[in-house]
Amino acid sequence: MRFLSLLFRNRLAAMGAVVLSLIVLLVLLIPVLPLQDPDVTNTADRFLPPLSEGHLLGTDHLGRDLLARLLYGTRLSLAVGLFAALIAGTIGSAVGIVAGYFGGRIDNVIMRGIDMLMAFPYILLALAIVAALGPGLLNALIAVAAVNIPFFARNIRGITVGLAGREFIDAARLSGMGHGRIILTELLPNVLSTIVIAMSTTVGWMILETAGLSFLGLGSQPPQADLGSMLGEARSSMITNPHTSIVPGIMIFLIVMSINLLGDGVRDALDPRLRSGALARPQARTMVRRKAPLPADDGKGLLNIQRLETQFHVGKRVYRAVNDVSLHVNAGECLGVIGESGSGKSVTALSVMGLVASPPGVITGGAVRYEGEDLLAAPYESLRKKRGEKVAYIFQDPLSTLHPLYRVGDQLAEAIQVHHRVSDAEARAKAIELFRSVRIPNPESRIRNYPHEMSGGMRQRVGIAMALANDPDVIIADEPTTALDVTVQAQILSLLDDLRRERGLAIVFITHDFGVVAQLCDRVAVMYGGRIVEQGTTTDILDRPAHPYTKRLMACVPELGGGKRELAAIPGLPPIVSDLPPGCAFAPRCHKATPACREGEIALDGGDARAVRCIHPEEEIA
Ligand code: ADP
Ligand code: MG
Repeated sequence: MRFLSLLFRNRLAAMGAVVLSLIVLLVLLIPVLPLQDPDVTNTADRFLPPLSEGHLLGTDHLGRDLLARLLYGTRLSLAVGLFAALIAGTIGSAVGIVAGYFGGRIDNVIMRGIDMLMAFPYILLALAIVAALGPGLLNALIAVAAVNIPFFARNIRGITVGLAGREFIDAARLSGMGHGRIILTELLPNVLSTIVIAMSTTVGWMILETAGLSFLGLGSQPPQADLGSMLGEARSSMITNPHTSIVPGIMIFLIVMSINLLGDGVRDALDPRLRSGALARPQARTMVRRKAPLPADDGKGLLNIQRLETQFHVGKRVYRAVNDVSLHVNAGECLGVIGESGSGKSVTALSVMGLVASPPGVITGGAVRYEGEDLLAAPYESLRKKRGEKVAYIFQDPLSTLHPLYRVGDQLAEAIQVHHRVSDAEARAKAIELFRSVRIPNPESRIRNYPHEMSGGMRQRVGIAMALANDPDVIIADEPTTALDVTVQAQILSLLDDLRRERGLAIVFITHDFGVVAQLCDRVAVMYGGRIVEQGTTTDILDRPAHPYTKRLMACVPELGGGKRELAAIPGLPPIVSDLPPGCAFAPRCHKATPACREGEIALDGGDARAVRCIHPEEEIA
């Protein structure tokens, strides 16, 4: 259903589908239509023009009814083209999957065979096959299918090779599945959409090729009509009686055109990447559509996020991922942003530099000021220059942000050269220096490593080195240590802390771990359901949490050496941001909630030093 609605949103594809269905319908109705016998000759009625008595489309050089021949011929051409595509698709895909899955020598032998087929010019090969087998429609079909096998085999092999090395195939092997089963149940479903796409875009071609062979007299044999042979027979009278060639010509055009339009539509609708993004690519920066007037510049901090509102518009749903969030950070300061998964931390961070994917992301309110300048209104070029140069990011998983095929040193050098005109040698020297500053041992040899040759901790150091490459003033670290084990985590944290002291960096540190906050941060903001529910200095928040959410979040952290105690998990789940309840988003999970908590807006009470969004705080704040 979703597939069909996507397909028909594409007007051209819908048009192709309509035209093709009409043609197919006509052809299927042949037995009940009052048609004349397509093969009966009547030399008295040669070359009657269209709209003659008894012959709607006229007659050909032997006096045969053109309408009947056209419909019979169309049926034959469609059937042959479709059948050839099915054969070529099935054999080609099977060959491709086997070659890609087994790899090694089998792959080599099969693919060299395919290469040999491809070495011949396409149409010559088809001609040679028909010449060897003898003319006839069936042989033309075999020839057309054969020359198209390499296309499918190459295509599908490429995809299979990529899939065969993935973990889910290993898992299937470990579970004891045989090769046949793995191919049928694990690989085939993953390549099926590609096969369908390839087929739908080549059927038109194959119909043309069969028609071409018939045109040359190698396909259907007289008196049998197909579109190609009709054209071939009409060739000698093209000038004197053009309708005999125009009629099959228009039909070929309509069929191939509609199949190709439909095929393109099918490809778009089946492609998962295009499907999720609603057939659009993300823009270079997040869309900004602010309704309320800009908050005035209050001059706080080096980076100042004021009343930020970021939403995702998916169809009719609106996900309010970030709601009225204000944060600022000064040079040399570390601000912690903490909250459960899904509370809007990453979206807040990405909004700063316009990195939230649009569509579906939209910034609907607030301002992001860097040294007073509103980045959301800044021209794209100015924003691009600041990315990496003034404000840099460190992400959770460096394996997914580093390019797998380039050496880490080259990637680091590239990051430098995007913003500075320096020679390769200088960039390399700078890369080594950066590696040293993030305490990677043997930087001279390490820069020649590929990302997969490094451990998680080393890769995260590369990520930090990359963020430092252009001496930024602000670093936004989005759960940089979540994927690391505790000892490496401690090293990375102390590294960030040193860098902050040495370089006067401002750090926004996003995490879900209070232990990390305690080690590194000066101030903390606690987020829940896209809002800040509490903020204050780290000591205040850790010693006297005011919001019930903060308190219970901390109760979830096990304490070493604190003796045995029951760990209090928070019951329930974080809210879904497309459907936030009125009032406090935490109320449904809160043991202190009263009816008042569930109605109206609850303000963030207090100042920058200490504030809480709760009407029954655990602690009175000054
Ligand atoms: P976290 O605090 O774990 O970093 P995020 O900032 O990544 O959370 O996500 C905040 C909310 O935004 C989540 O509830 C998530 O469901 C929603 N969200 C994120 N990306 C999208 C998207 N592309 N479409 C719809 N909702 C999204
Ligand atoms: Mg996140």
